[in-house]
Amino acid sequence: MRAKKRIVIVGGGTAGWMAAAALSSMLPRQEFSIDLVESEQIGIIGVGEATLPHLRHFNETIGVDETEFLKATSATLKLGIEFVNWGDVGERYIHPFGDFGRTIQGAKFHQVWRKLNPDASAGDIGKYSLPVRMCEAGKFDFPESDYRAITSTYGYAYQFDATRYAPFLRKIAEGRGVRRTEGIVNAVNQASENGDIVSIELDNGALLTGDYFIDCTGFRGVLIDQTLKAGYEDWSHWLPCDRAVAVPSAATSPILPYTRATAHEAGWQWRIPLQHRMGNGHVYSSSFIDDDKAEAILRANIEGELKAEPRVLRFRTGRRKQFWSRNCVSVGLASGFLEPLESTSIHLTQLAITNFIELLPVSSDMSRERDEYNAIMAREFERVRDFLILHYHVTRRHDSAFWNHVRTMEIPTTLQEKIDLFSARGRVARYQQGLFLEPSWLAVYLGQGLIPAQPDGSASQLDDAELAARIAALDSEIGSAVSRMPHHDNKLAALVQAGRAAQ
Ligand SMILES: Cc1cc2nc3c(=O)[nH]c(=O)nc-3n(C[C@H](O)[C@H](O)[C@H](O)COP(=O)(O)OP(=O)(O)OC[C@H]3O[C@@H](n4cnc5c(N)ncnc54)[C@H](O)[C@@H]3O)c2cc1C
Repeated sequence: MRAKKRIVIVGGGTAGWMAAAALSSMLPRQEFSIDLVESEQIGIIGVGEATLPHLRHFNETIGVDETEFLKATSATLKLGIEFVNWGDVGERYIHPFGDFGRTIQGAKFHQVWRKLNPDASAGDIGKYSLPVRMCEAGKFDFPESDYRAITSTYGYAYQFDATRYAPFLRKIAEGRGVRRTEGIVNAVNQASENGDIVSIELDNGALLTGDYFIDCTGFRGVLIDQTLKAGYEDWSHWLPCDRAVAVPSAATSPILPYTRATAHEAGWQWRIPLQHRMGNGHVYSSSFIDDDKAEAILRANIEGELKAEPRVLRFRTGRRKQFWSRNCVSVGLASGFLEPLESTSIHLTQLAITNFIELLPVSSDMSRERDEYNAIMAREFERVRDFLILHYHVTRRHDSAFWNHVRTMEIPTTLQEKIDLFSARGRVARYQQGLFLEPSWLAVYLGQGLIPAQPDGSASQLDDAELAARIAALDSEIGSAVSRMPHHDNKLAALVQAGRAAQ
């Protein structure tokens, strides 16, 4: 019998327990043992409430029942993000989890829309997106699987209480054999011949040995940074927000099926509706406003009564130079952080875990897998980074030093090339991997007022009057689909009730 490979996860926040639940679900128990170390004394960061549709796949893979999850985490259903004051003060648009319109005789919908838009006859492109219209009407229903139906053209995610997901996953992971140890890592022992981590020592005297270590210790990066010095690539010159002040408030009614991101003088504010409360936070750049002003802006823009004292969180935008160093993989905040504007952090955690699992098992020389992993994760982080910068850079705002800075700053060439391509004829750069696909880029480009100089010509042979009739028909098809759907509040209440009744 071969000895089991020992995996030691350090950290029990969202990242640590996601890793534990996924590893214990997807790896053969006879080949791997999994330990998790966490410290109640240190605690978790406890923010991070809005997610992307991919999390559903993660939950399904580890066998989570959706209704149980909605109940346990007080979650709501999310169809996208509303951006207020980004293109300019007073403007708004929704970045939905779904498509804009349908291809018409081989021409992409946004090209048709652009062709009809010199005289603005096509109106706002959001009108032709089912999830946008659902958000506006406060409606929710599950998407259909028949791809011909308009009701199959969207996905959905969740907004949940960040302090409840990890305990929920802990039950699953412990049920599948993960051993949890309480304690603070005091010392990390490395092999003299190659620097691999061999064991960690805890303040209570416990010693845990391992073949692989997963650093989920949050911003501290106890293994990846403090021990292995994997380095950090700082991106704050492109994404200058470096703090957030967060506070929960009383729930408001109706509970809307989307997150709102409202731009302010030197940053933006999130509003995330949960079943039992509202999550709020103001992300800002400390180079442009101080903590007191940031808190005052937040307080002035919250609807309900505050449920706690606001708390300030600091971060440095960027990523680890090496996500996987020696025999240690960093996951979650330990691997880097990109501000929460597009709810990407938990998704990057999910990617880190699934990519690591796909590369297991590895031999004692793990350099090839490590290089492959580091390349994949670097690409994912960079693509999210570019998408976030787009929101700040493609703006007409000139009402504060912050907006003047981000509007005029130099941006990565990878992003500039994409913007140039779209500006000319509305083409969206494609890639094989990367989180945000064409509809997402369209939502932000068009939502923030970047209209291509001309359409790409694919609709040039088509008659304008016929196109106008087709898109008018689409508008009413979407309208009647939305009118048949239940309100998000009611749908959610029925789901949670049904779950209770089934119990
Ligand atoms: C302002 C803000 C808003 C955010 N909003 C979103 C969002 O809307 N959507 C989203 O997807 N993400 C969001 N995130 C990111 C999200 O919070 C994190 O991805 C998520 O909480 C995972 O955190 P973590 O588990 O990596 O770290 P943490 O929650 O910090 O957990 C670290 C763990 O390590 C343990 N630990 C640390 N040091 C030691 C030690 N020496 N010994 C033993 N244990 C130790 C701690 O006890 C804890 O268990 C946001 C982050 C911030 C800062």
